[in-house]
Amino acid sequence: MYDLIVRNGKLVTPDRIYEADIAIKNGVYAAFLEKRTPAEAKEEIDAGGNYVFPGIIDCHAHLNEPGFEYREDFETGSRAAAAAGCTCLIDMPLNNNPSLMNKEIFDLKMGKISKHSAVDFALWGGIVGDYDDKPDSVKNNMNDLVDLHKCGVAAFKGFTCPNGDLFPTVNMGNVRKALEILKPYNALCGFHCEEYGQVLEREKEAKAKEGLSREEKIRAFLDAHDVWTEYVATKNIIDMARATGGRVHICHVSHPMVAQVVKDAIHEGLPVTAETCPHYLGFTEDFVFEKGAPAKCTPPMRKKEDMEKLWDYVLDGTLSCVGSDHSPAADEEKDNETKDIWQAWGGLNSIQFFLPMMFDMVVHKKRLSPSLIAKVMDYNPAKVFGLYGQKGAFELGFDGDIVIVDPEKAWKCRQEELLTKGHVSCFDGLEGKGAPIYTIIRGKVVAKDGMYKEDAVGYGKYVTPTEK
Ligand SMILES: [Zn+2]
Repeated sequence: MYDLIVRNGKLVTPDRIYEADIAIKNGVYAAFLEKRTPAEAKEEIDAGGNYVFPGIIDCHAHLNEPGFEYREDFETGSRAAAAAGCTCLIDMPLNNNPSLMNKEIFDLKMGKISKHSAVDFALWGGIVGDYDDKPDSVKNNMNDLVDLHKCGVAAFKGFTCPNGDLFPTVNMGNVRKALEILKPYNALCGFHCEEYGQVLEREKEAKAKEGLSREEKIRAFLDAHDVWTEYVATKNIIDMARATGGRVHICHVSHPMVAQVVKDAIHEGLPVTAETCPHYLGFTEDFVFEKGAPAKCTPPMRKKEDMEKLWDYVLDGTLSCVGSDHSPAADEEKDNETKDIWQAWGGLNSIQFFLPMMFDMVVHKKRLSPSLIAKVMDYNPAKVFGLYGQKGAFELGFDGDIVIVDPEKAWKCRQEELLTKGHVSCFDGLEGKGAPIYTIIRGKVVAKDGMYKEDAVGYGKYVTPTEK
């Protein structure tokens, strides 16, 4: 007797789509059965001929607990993720207070978050640096990295650009040291790539200009964060991978010039992986001019031709993962009335439309196979972040995660209906087709028809890498 059978679905994998019924027992896939094979289960779900994915992993989500729960906590963020078809998210070490930079903070964080996640979760640990302009109290955490690794963090994150005192920027000395320390553990180090000096200098110059119109300010912001900042930082990080042999991951690649640098590095045989986000694949600078503060993020959205070209690097496997980079804010931090582009919070409220947006772009707009979704939003993230073996594929004994997507289901983002704590989203009003109708984690339904289940809160468990 199985616990759950999902019948009548089209199973989507990176290489093929096929019909089968899925049986789950004790939280894992127990059998893949030919359609309508007689079998007994406590519960049966009819997938209605829709697409069935072996889970969706959001490899880049900022849920802000502990420290900034007024923007988002694990409960609100993970409920929105569940409703959006996410089965596992990998939470960033910032913005937190304290940021996740040592074992003591890991214990504190787990004490808070482990009780109320609606989806399975892994964690990014932090790599923090000690740039000269920081106060003496701000120290790097090189001596804590191995301990953090032993806590089971799936990867480490560092910032190459100015980033405040709670999560200090890394310089290349810090990066090199961290890679040397973590290489024996084959641990992955991801970086926000925008080069410190250029961002500092160009922001200072742009902010000093007086009397600029709204449009001129947005232009100045986009120019201060132009592709050269991202390009130089990415090259530096890749050079550190070349110098040390440590594994690096380039976060949220926004521009084809940067993707090409990654592609060359992979071709050279360096241990480099990279991700992009839906907003770089479907939105441009024009969107930032249109929406203002709610659309502020760094790196910023790029020109239309750059956006189009970025797809080539998703298709050829250079940008092997797509993450949401959900980075929530309180509504007043994204308010166009009171905040100009400089004052507004940098980060998008995106987790609840992560899968629907990607599905609509991939399947309906680009006319590509949903297999691409299975690849860049499940299989590859599971491989890159070491979760394969538990997550990422329809394999016997893997976690019984299932996301059923109705490819024709129409959706519209209405910010007042968002399940996240903040309600301002630049995607307000966006419409598309293709939405999750069931989110199932280890055999349990955690969300249905765009709404999380109350009893899912606290069900999500901490997952740690198994594949070394
Ligand atoms: Zn981020």
